[in-house]
Amino acid sequence: MPKKVRVAIIGGGPAGLTAALYTARAQLSTVVFVGDRLGGQIASTDEVDNYPGFPEGITGPDLAERMKTQAERFGAHFVWDLVQAVDFSSGSPFRIKSTDEEYLADAVIVTIGASPRKLGVPGEEQFTARGVSWCATCDGWFFRGKDIIVVGGGDSALQEGIFLTKFANSVNIVHRRDELRASVALQTRAKNNEKIKFTWNTVIDEIKGNGKVSGVVLRDLQSGQRQEVPVDGVFIFIGHDPNSDLFKGQIAMDNDGYFLIDSHMRTSVEGVFAAGEIADHTWKQAATSVGQGCAAAMSTIHWLEEHEATLQALEAEALG
Ligand code: NAP
Repeated sequence: MPKKVRVAIIGGGPAGLTAALYTARAQLSTVVFVGDRLGGQIASTDEVDNYPGFPEGITGPDLAERMKTQAERFGAHFVWDLVQAVDFSSGSPFRIKSTDEEYLADAVIVTIGASPRKLGVPGEEQFTARGVSWCATCDGWFFRGKDIIVVGGGDSALQEGIFLTKFANSVNIVHRRDELRASVALQTRAKNNEKIKFTWNTVIDEIKGNGKVSGVVLRDLQSGQRQEVPVDGVFIFIGHDPNSDLFKGQIAMDNDGYFLIDSHMRTSVEGVFAAGEIADHTWKQAATSVGQGCAAAMSTIHWLEEHEATLQALEAEALG
């Protein structure tokens, strides 16, 4: 027998945790599918210093834990499992299957976020967790006194590169252009850090090793010259892709896989809302995800109120 809830939230990052706080506090039974890591991408961030209310900064995992505790205070229920399938085809109530359980939800808020992009070069898969990483917070400690390459020129590459200097002997930031995309504040901090150097107009063609990473083949995009450089680790921060595969054919999305939503966070399916990076091409901040999660929850609450009579009639009919 599926479990019945008023609201199911798929994703346990800042958007989902905020939505849960609002729907649970509105006394709607709320289940949050967290997946395998509370906080989503923020769980990989060591230092969050641009989230309002924490003047000294806070770690990503601490921030996520606080958000969860706050939602739990109002009765949100957390499921530590990945959603395997959803069925939105016949409208509310919506069917959601995780590995171990099945739920029926009157409304759904999708906050499943995005996943880090891969380079797609030889050696990347082979040496994942053997020197290739997408998470400085998780793996930085293993690179004490080592030489590391960080790939990317955005905020993530610089923020995580700076964090990695706590452990590493050296951090070489390899970027495909000669101009960074990262904020000026992070650029200044990185450029003033004596353990960091930059390699411009360069990409990785191959990651080499024997059991673990021992070097990379770099290619200068201007001269075309290739050279093998010894390194112990490669950290990749080249952006993210939305985790929308589960919803293909059920929810309208753009060519990049981002959900198409309106200003009230409504998706193409009535009763299904979305917030955070699954529907956000542009802002991608913890603070913006929180705002979007709040808006999605408020729209959900209004939608449930408006459709209360119909939903009750449907439930009575289903119970026979
Ligand atoms: P991003 O801003 O999209 O930057 C990705 C970087 O990777 C770019 O420099 C891009 O190069 C490079 N890149 C993309 N594909 C590549 C490939 N195949 N090979 C080599 N390089 C490649 O991603 P992000 O840094 O993860 O940031 C995502 C969002 O989160 C942004 O909005 C950012 O502001 C935000 N964020 C904020 C903070 C903070 O405020 N402290 C921290 C982390 C992230 P090009 O520049 O040439 O395109």
